[in-house]
Amino acid sequence: MKESRLTMSNKEAHDPLADTRQLISEEVPRGVDRRSFLMRTAVGGAAAVMTGCTAAPEERTATAAATAKPEAAAPSAPPLAEDLYVAMKSKGPVLTTVDEFYKVGPGPSSSHTIGPMRITYDFYQRATKLPADQLAKATKLQVNLFGSLSATGKGHGTERAALAGLVGNEPATVDPKFLDGLRDKPDQVFPVKLGNKSIDVSLKDIVYDATKGDFKHPNTMTVKLLAGNEALLEQEYYSVGGGFIEWKGYTPPKKNAPKYPFATMKELRNHADTNKTTIGKIMLANEMSITGKSEAEVYAWVDKVINAMVATVKSGLAMPEDDVLPGPIKLHSKAATVYKRAMDDKFEAERGIGALSAFALAASEENGRGHLVITAPTGGSAGVMPSLVYGLLEVRKMDRQKVREGMLAAAAVGYLCKHHATLSAAEGGCQAEIGVASAMAAALVATAHDAPSLVVENAAESALEHHLGMTCDPVAGYVQVPCIERCAFGAVKAWTAYAIASNEIASRHRVNLDETVAALAQTAKEMNSKYKETSEAGLALSVVLC
Ligand code: SF4
Repeated sequence: MKESRLTMSNKEAHDPLADTRQLISEEVPRGVDRRSFLMRTAVGGAAAVMTGCTAAPEERTATAAATAKPEAAAPSAPPLAEDLYVAMKSKGPVLTTVDEFYKVGPGPSSSHTIGPMRITYDFYQRATKLPADQLAKATKLQVNLFGSLSATGKGHGTERAALAGLVGNEPATVDPKFLDGLRDKPDQVFPVKLGNKSIDVSLKDIVYDATKGDFKHPNTMTVKLLAGNEALLEQEYYSVGGGFIEWKGYTPPKKNAPKYPFATMKELRNHADTNKTTIGKIMLANEMSITGKSEAEVYAWVDKVINAMVATVKSGLAMPEDDVLPGPIKLHSKAATVYKRAMDDKFEAERGIGALSAFALAASEENGRGHLVITAPTGGSAGVMPSLVYGLLEVRKMDRQKVREGMLAAAAVGYLCKHHATLSAAEGGCQAEIGVASAMAAALVATAHDAPSLVVENAAESALEHHLGMTCDPVAGYVQVPCIERCAFGAVKAWTAYAIASNEIASRHRVNLDETVAALAQTAKEMNSKYKETSEAGLALSVVLC
C-alpha cells in the first residue's frame, strides 16, 4: 500500500478519487472477515473524502477492523409486543382517523419529539387532576427515557420536547422558538403549577436511562410525580411511531363503527368499486361515521394539514442557500439551491424531478431545524407528502378537492401499514417511515388524477415495495443524514410509482398492497435491531464526523 502511494503522480496524490487504492487497505487483520473489512475501509475512506476529514489510513484500518469483527450471532430484533397497535394479530376494522394520523408538531421525529412531548403533556394533564392534598406533597417531576429514546434521543432533542410537554405546552401549538430557546439556554428552570403547588423543572429532570433492556416497546419512557422517594403518580408510556402514544394498560378509545368497515386494501377497494365511488369518498364516509363529524368538519381538518404542508415547503425554500442545520454534522441546506438550479434546467422532465426533490428537501430541512412538522406518517419522512401536495396545488394548480380526496386515500394506506405492520423506525427501520410515506404519496397523486381504485392501490404498492428492507441509521442520531435526501427520493419514487401504475395494464400488476404490507411487517420483525434507529450501524457507523 505504501509503495503504491509513493509511485502516484502529483495529480493523483491531490485527487483522492483518482486511485481508489488509497481508500482500501490491503492488509486485512487476522481473524477479520475480508469482505466486510474491505467494505468498511472503503466506505470509511469515501466518507472521509465527502466530509473533507482526513482520517489517517491507519486510523481507518483500525476502525474498520474493530467494526468488521464477525458477530457470534446477529442480535435478534426486539419482539413486537402483542398488545400494541403494531401486533399483526389485530384483525378488526381500521378505526384510525385523520386528526389522529396527520399530527402537527415540532420536528425532527414523530416518535422522538412529538410522541414524547404528547406523553409528558398527557402526564402533566393527569397530574393536574390529582387531589389537592396529594399535590401539596409533591417535590419533583422526573422523566426517564429508555431504549431507542435514550440511544438517539439527544440527536433528536427528545429531552427538550419532553420538558416542553411537562411544563404544559401542547405539541400542535408549541412555539418552535421555545424549543430553540431550550437548545440555546439549556440551564433554564421552569415552574410547573400543579394545583396550589409549584414545582421547578429543567432539562436535568429528563434522564437518559438504559438503552438496552426488556422493554415492552423500543421507545419506552416513564414519567413520575414524586414526594421525596414516594411516587404520587407514575406512568410507563410508549411512543409507538407517527406521534402515536400508548401506556401500560392502554386500551384504544371507543369509537363508532365505520360505515364501510375494512381491514385490508382488498376490502377497501371492494367498497369503492361496489359503490362505484373512490377510495377517498369511502374514507370520507368512514371518517364521518367514526367521529360523528360533518363532511365540512372533516375537510376543515384536511385543509389545515394541506395548508401546513404547503407552508413548510414554502418556509424551507425561503431559507438562505447556505443555512447550516443544527447539530454536529453541520449539514448545509440545499433545498433553495436545488430548486433554483432545477428551474434553470433546459429539460422539462428534469425540472420536474429537481423541483419535486427540492420541495421534499425544503420540508425535511424544516424538520431538521425542529420547526413545524406534519406527520405523514412521521417526522423523519415529513418531506415526502408535502412535496407532492405542494407540486399538485402550487405548481400544477390542481383542484383542491382532488387533493383533499388524495389526502384521505393516502391516509388509508398509512392506516393499513400501521394496522398490520408499523410506522416506527425503532421497530421497522426506514421502510416503515419513508417507505410508507412514499406509498401514501403515490396514492395521493393517483387519486388526485382520478385514477381508478386499482391504480391507486398499485401505485401505493409499487412505492412501498421498493423501500422494503430500508434500514434506519441516522448519522450521529440526527434526522438529517440520510433522512433529508431520503425524503426527496421517497417523493420521486412516489411519482414514479404513479407513472408506472397509470401506464401499465392495472389488472396485470402482480403484487397487491396487502401482500407488501405483510412483507413490511415480516421484514420489520427480522431486521437486525442495530438498523432500527439506534445509530449503531450503517451510515451512522461508517460516516466519519470531524
Ligand atoms: S433514516 Fe429514515 S427512519 Fe431513520 S430517522 Fe432517518 S428518515 Fe427516519
